[in-house]
Amino acid sequence: MLLVEDDPVVQAALVHALTDLGHDVCAVGTAVAALREAGTREPDLVILDLGLPDLDGVAALRMLRGISDVPVIIATARGGESSVVGSLNAGADDYIVKPFSAEHLAARINALLRRTAGSARTDHPDLVTVGELRVDLAQRQVFRADQPVALSRREFDLLAYLARRPNRVVPRRELFQAVWGQPYLGDDKTIDVHVSWLRSKLGETAAKPRHLHTVRGVGFKLVAPE
Ligand code: CA
Repeated sequence: MLLVEDDPVVQAALVHALTDLGHDVCAVGTAVAALREAGTREPDLVILDLGLPDLDGVAALRMLRGISDVPVIIATARGGESSVVGSLNAGADDYIVKPFSAEHLAARINALLRRTAGSARTDHPDLVTVGELRVDLAQRQVFRADQPVALSRREFDLLAYLARRPNRVVPRRELFQAVWGQPYLGDDKTIDVHVSWLRSKLGETAAKPRHLHTVRGVGFKLVAPE
């Protein structure tokens, strides 16, 4: 995997920890070096610090996406909510807030590698299962614990979009553009109302989410309950 981190102390600690966990780590300190390595080494995963000396992290991510579909976890400073949203919109798969432990990062890496390996499976591309939810994309039917759930067209589209990307935080902008097919102009109310209808039909509430989680200031994600 490719680690992009300009702080030598943090970089050395992460290389050490990730190597101990059995990962083959290549570490660089600039976006330019990261783009070069990503192009030549074809890493299985990239951990990208957003605060790099040579290029804005979101710009670096866009350039990376131009050459590679590699899974990307971005590392951001606390309070960097707008850059998190920017990165998710630019194609990051997950994010982690600094300071984080090597164990926490390792858990995110494993989850992401599992997920990207899973998404390559195509035995039943039309049937997605997340926890108790089964979404039949071809028949446009949803089952919760094997009971059919009646959804409106919009609610189904919302759920289907999230179900195709389990465990991933989907930014509001991306969700709106995908489900409503219109540019997002901050129509939070529209999304919130439909999410809330969908939630109640799934038998959940915002206060006690099971599958459908709100990630404050960013978007939504669908997960299997613990
Ligand atoms: Ca940095």
